Amino acid sequence: SAPWEDPEAKPVIHFQNVTKRFGDFTAIDDLTIDIYEKEFFALLGPSGCGKTTLMRMLAGFETPTEGTILLQGENIAPVPPNKRAVNMMFQSYALFPHLSIWENIAFGLKRDGMSKHDINERVDEMLRLTRLEQFARRKPHQISGGQRQRVALARSLAKHPKLLLLDEPLGALDKKLRQETQFELMDIQEKTDTTFVIVTHDQEEAMTVASRVAVMDHGKIIQVATPDAIYETPNSTYVADFIGDVNLIEGKAAGQDGDKLKITWAEGQPDIIGTPTTEFSNGQTVHFAIRPEKVSITAEKPEKANCLQGKILDIAYLGNISTYHVELAGGKVIKAQTANNRRLSRRSFTWEDDVWLSFTDTAGVLLER
Ligand code: ATP
Repeated sequence: SAPWEDPEAKPVIHFQNVTKRFGDFTAIDDLTIDIYEKEFFALLGPSGCGKTTLMRMLAGFETPTEGTILLQGENIAPVPPNKRAVNMMFQSYALFPHLSIWENIAFGLKRDGMSKHDINERVDEMLRLTRLEQFARRKPHQISGGQRQRVALARSLAKHPKLLLLDEPLGALDKKLRQETQFELMDIQEKTDTTFVIVTHDQEEAMTVASRVAVMDHGKIIQVATPDAIYETPNSTYVADFIGDVNLIEGKAAGQDGDKLKITWAEGQPDIIGTPTTEFSNGQTVHFAIRPEKVSITAEKPEKANCLQGKILDIAYLGNISTYHVELAGGKVIKAQTANNRRLSRRSFTWEDDVWLSFTDTAGVLLER
C-alpha cells in the first residue's frame, strides 16, 4: 500500500503547524503535512499561494515564524542550508557557462572535498542516469535546452540528497519537450532514492509526474491526494475548478430519497439528482460538479437521471476530442465533451443545434463549498 495510507510509515518531511509571516502578511498559514520516502510530490496553486515559500523553508533560505519542520525525524531549524540533505534546482538552472558539463556536475562535489576517485565515479553515475555521457566535454551553450535541464538535474542529484526541490524545473522548455522531459524526470526519480518535491503552475504537469498533488490557496493546503483522487473526488469547488475543466451548478438541497439527493437550481429547469457522500440539510447550498466528459450530448431525450435541454453555442474541435458549449434556457452554459473515435461513428452536432445533455446521478460530485 502507499506510504501515506500506512500508519506505520515514517515521513521524510513533516511540517507541523508551520506558519510563515512576512511582516503582517501570512504567506504560509498553519500548515501540517507529511511527505514520504521516494514520493514525487507536487505543489500546485495560483501565483502567490505560498509554494515557493514552502520550498525555501525546506531548503533553509527561510525560517518558519511558527511550527516545526522535521527532515527524517530531525528538526531542521538549526541546520544551515548547505548542511541539509536537501538540494534545490532552480528554473534558471544557473550552469557555469565556462565549465564543461562534466565540471558543472563535479563542482559541488569538489567544493565538498570529495576525493578525485569518488568524484569521477559519481559524475559518471550522474551522466549515465541522465543520459548525458556523450556531452560530458561540451560547454552548456553547445547543448540543447532539454539537455541543459538534465545537466542541472544531474548536478542537483550528484550529492545524493534525501530531498530534491524542483521549482518550475521545466518552465523554460516548449510544450512538446516539456512533456517528454516529464517522463524522463519520473524515470530518473524512480532510479534514485530521492524524494522529489516539485512546484509547478501547470496542472497537467503535476498530474503527470506526481504520486500526490497538494492544491494550495492563500498559504493553506486545500486538498492533498493522488492525481486521480484529486480529479475524481475534489473536496471543494476551488479544487474542482483548479484541476481540469468542470461544470459547477449551484443549487439548494431539496430532499433526500435513499442515497439520492434532489437539487433545485434554476427556475424552469428540472431538479438535478445527485449521490452525496456527506449530509445535506434541506435548503443548504450544494454545488454539483461534473466534468465535461461525463456529460452526454444527444439529439433525442435519453433515459437518464438527469436531462437538460439546450442549444449549441460553440464547438471546439481538438482532434481526439470535441468540446461543446451548450446554452440552457435561462442562460447557463454547460460544457460537454465527446471522444472523436471514428469507429464509434458518433453523430456530430453543429452550431445552434437543439440538443439534450444528460448524465447519471453518480457522474458528478456534490460539494458544500
Ligand atoms: P509564484 O507561483 O508566483 O511563484 P508562489 O505560490 O510561489 O507564487 P510565494 O513566492 O511563496 O508564492 O509567495 C507567497 C506570498 O508571500 C506572496 O504574496 C509574496 O508576495 C509573499 N512573499 C514572499 N516572499 C516575501 C518576502 N521576502 N517578503 C514579503 N513578502 C513575501
